[in-house]
Amino acid sequence: EAPILEVKNLRKHFQLKDNRTLKAVDGLNFSINRGETFGLVGESGCGKSTAGRTIIRLYEASEGQVIFNGKDVGKLKGDDRLKFNREMQMVFQDPYASLNPRMTVGKIIAEGIDIHKLYTGKKRTDRVHQLLHAVGLNEEHAGRFPHEFSGGQRQRIGIARALAIEPQFIIADEPISALDVSVQAQVVNLFKNLQREHGLTYLFIAHDLAMIKHISDRIGVMYLGKLVEVAAASTLNAKPLHPYTQSLLSAIPIPDPEIQKSRERVILQGEIPSPVNPPSGCPFRTRCPKAMPECAASMPAFKEIEPGHFAACHLY
Ligand code: SF4
Ligand code: MG
Repeated sequence: EAPILEVKNLRKHFQLKDNRTLKAVDGLNFSINRGETFGLVGESGCGKSTAGRTIIRLYEASEGQVIFNGKDVGKLKGDDRLKFNREMQMVFQDPYASLNPRMTVGKIIAEGIDIHKLYTGKKRTDRVHQLLHAVGLNEEHAGRFPHEFSGGQRQRIGIARALAIEPQFIIADEPISALDVSVQAQVVNLFKNLQREHGLTYLFIAHDLAMIKHISDRIGVMYLGKLVEVAAASTLNAKPLHPYTQSLLSAIPIPDPEIQKSRERVILQGEIPSPVNPPSGCPFRTRCPKAMPECAASMPAFKEIEPGHFAACHLY
């Protein structure tokens, strides 16, 4: 079966006031299979949120293509565009900022239903109640306002809003990082259960590899606007190829001291360079413990090293 989403050479550049260019997303290539969870991970500022927003067309791509269900989303018009707006939804990082404080929860959830004219009258009310139940809330919550809820509950409202118009694909941009640790696992479980019940596909964006490796089928690691490694989550965890991925993994404590001992601790030197002025050659070379002279001279190609395992590094 063809992937539900294919991202081809996707770029999103921003022109700054001083005429310099911020290459926030700089040539992404990956695909996501129907029904899977693809984790996109990297430090803050690596371009992962911009990538999500460009894929769903909140931003117009500077270059490249996003193919969704076999169609180039940059070329969709009329009904096809509306259909795309339904089929792909986003859940945002900040459940405080992403809900309109002046709207009741019922109205927030029903907004998409109204825009897409899915249900009216009693059917619409029933649908809102059903969605509230689906995310662990109840119909009494429909008449209340966002400020009356906790962070975890607000994120549930955001998820109900995304589900309201029966999407196939959800981009979740750090959906749990603003929440208390005690409720993070509950919200992750909610995502998992909804995926099973509705056959959803997820692009799950996070800065925390420790969390993302448990919930993803495959993972893409981003650095300075580029993917440096893509593999199945289990493969990436057991055999990371890129020195950046190795450093991220080595920072995660492992309960078993024997495995911890065998895993070489890689401590990164220095700060992340500015994406306005990235290093020549390999973007990671200023912090890479394995950098070689050729790393400054040329950009390593992103290539398939083993079946399904891609990396951009001159070591391979
Ligand atoms: Fe390190 Fe060179 Fe590989 Fe870049 S290409 S990750 S600098 S070894
Ligand atoms: Mg972000």
